[in-house]
Amino acid sequence: MPSPRKKLTPPARLPKNGMRITPLGGLGEVGRNMTVFEHAGKLMIVDCGVLFPEEHQPGIDVILPDFTSIRDRLDDIECIVLTHGHEDHIGGVPYLLKERADIPLIGSELTLAFITAKLKEHRITPKTIQVEAGQKHKAGVFDLEFVAVNHSIPDSLAVAIRTKAGTVLCTGDFKMDQFPLDGRITDLRAFARLGEQGVDLFLTDSTNAEVPGFTMSERDLTPAIDQVFASSPRRVIVSSFASHVHRIQQVLDAAHAAGRKVAFVGRSMVRNMAIARDLDYLDIPKGLVVDFRKIQSMPDHKITLICTGSQGEPMAALARMANGDHQIQVGEGDTVLMASSLIPGNENAIYGIINKLTDLGANIVHKGNAKVHVSGHASAGELVYCYNIVRPKNVMPVHGESKHLHANAELARRTGVPEQNVVIAQDGVTVDLIDGKARVSGKVEAGLVYVDGQTIGAATEDTLAERRLLSGGGVVTVVALIDPKTYKPVEPVEFLSKGFVHDKRTFEGAEAQVTKALARAKTDKVEDIAEIEESIVETVSSYLRRTYRREPAVQAVVVDA
Ligand SMILES: [Zn+2]
Repeated sequence: MPSPRKKLTPPARLPKNGMRITPLGGLGEVGRNMTVFEHAGKLMIVDCGVLFPEEHQPGIDVILPDFTSIRDRLDDIECIVLTHGHEDHIGGVPYLLKERADIPLIGSELTLAFITAKLKEHRITPKTIQVEAGQKHKAGVFDLEFVAVNHSIPDSLAVAIRTKAGTVLCTGDFKMDQFPLDGRITDLRAFARLGEQGVDLFLTDSTNAEVPGFTMSERDLTPAIDQVFASSPRRVIVSSFASHVHRIQQVLDAAHAAGRKVAFVGRSMVRNMAIARDLDYLDIPKGLVVDFRKIQSMPDHKITLICTGSQGEPMAALARMANGDHQIQVGEGDTVLMASSLIPGNENAIYGIINKLTDLGANIVHKGNAKVHVSGHASAGELVYCYNIVRPKNVMPVHGESKHLHANAELARRTGVPEQNVVIAQDGVTVDLIDGKARVSGKVEAGLVYVDGQTIGAATEDTLAERRLLSGGGVVTVVALIDPKTYKPVEPVEFLSKGFVHDKRTFEGAEAQVTKALARAKTDKVEDIAEIEESIVETVSSYLRRTYRREPAVQAVVVDA
């Protein structure tokens, strides 16, 4: 198997009979899924998602896939297929459409409704092509066929892509719940038929490849959710993803059975649930859902509030409630039901919120202490089933951290896919399907692109390193007024600091170091002020590190007197 560890270079030109698959996100991380397919000079894209920042990425809103490798080929893109409406599969679309607004978006009814509403906030009206499971669609040189899959959001699709180079089947995110709430199961008969016709390359969801057995059914959560409603003396506050229609359906049913009313809280929750209700993906008993303002005048034991923030996002409703910064004041006897997963990287934020809410007197029910969440992804047992049904010639695990991709690859090998035909790639690694063989062919640029307020890609790794430095050690500014001839300070060197703990004597030794650095600059005939400042920064940084074992961000300002 070609090892992705060896140094890869940009791939050679793709032969006419070949197809190139380039993941630009989602391999080596959970999020920002995006894969580019190339054939006969044309491109198509499956999904374009975002990744949410972690604690070591302060000030970042979301992280995008890197569009560098397709930026000068935007006109070659035939379409973007969106497998389902989760943020990690659609969240990047507004940013790609800012580069070319008329790329057609292909997806199911609910997926397109979610992305259209999101694009409206970015003032973009997309060109959309709605498809259903079982339907075929020709997008230039790509013949597409859509297959129903079951996931934690309704209306998810897998897509088969046929070209002269062969057939590729992408599962998207999926699982094989046999008793889903909406009765729409993963269409294994279609998987089998495609397998019968020949699947040359199979791209499969790796998220739960390490989890043995089968993922539990959503229905298995009903008793635990009912129990919450039956036993809560006061309000029930539920936090979930704004797209988790199935889970919210269960909460609505439980609230209804318990004789409570429900209000949705937060912009994205209100927006998505209105869409899901209007399109009949959410079945809301008459009179159950009331306006947020109206519910506040009702007795506590009649109230259910459904909000976002289950991942500890600081701006979401749940975090603001925990901080006492929301019009909903959580108190003694309230129950908070966190009905969602715990995405790696968010643990500290979530536990922080659980503790704060507990301090406020609330009873917290979460996946750690009750059966209130099941994963939306296929476990190892389901993946093995799929391999045996599809019998693919080549396999490329997608959607997951490296350990998930490797676990999924091992499952494929165990079902008999030849070792050399199981390709483990990373973001940016190109895989070419030529003459029925999938092989790594090179690598294109695929870094992390940070969205910070209104800027896209302006914040870099260096920016984040600076921010971490500032938050870790504070900042020290050295101001030196010098005689331009002698380079000697004409006034005592000033040290200004923020967030760096000091007293009167802290900088005494540093001043002598600055004077020395200036004398050295004079001897070396350095005339460039910026260069002199740089040497002061180095001197003072190393002094503070040596003397106090602290590393504040140091800056220097040198002024000619
Ligand atoms: Zn998903």
